[in-house]
Amino acid sequence: MKSCLECGEKIIGREDKKFCSDGCRNAYNNKINKDSNNYMRNINNKLRKNYRILSGINTEGKSKTTKSKLLSLGFDFDFFTNILKTKTGNTYYFLYDQGYLLLDNDFYMLVKKDI
Ligand SMILES: [Zn+2]
Repeated sequence: MKSCLECGEKIIGREDKKFCSDGCRNAYNNKINKDSNNYMRNINNKLRKNYRILSGINTEGKSKTTKSKLLSLGFDFDFFTNILKTKTGNTYYFLYDQGYLLLDNDFYMLVKKDI
């Protein structure tokens, strides 16, 4: 016999049932959704913050900045939306349409993708 994933009560009925009641199913699913939403919200906030920082500096569509300037604004290099590798071997990191490329001496080239 199987038991309810939420409360542990024995389940009576169909073999594939996972919960004893609709209430238990809802409670269980709400918990799962809440956790993943908090986790996703934190990441999305970091992505948005990074994007705001790049957009704030790179108003012309192409510019240079330094690592220390980005860090002082709270930029988090662990979070980006995608990577673009060029044929010439450069690796651009993008936050949506704003990208950066590491240059020498902790300088960064900022670019904006044409959409
Ligand atoms: Zn239950």
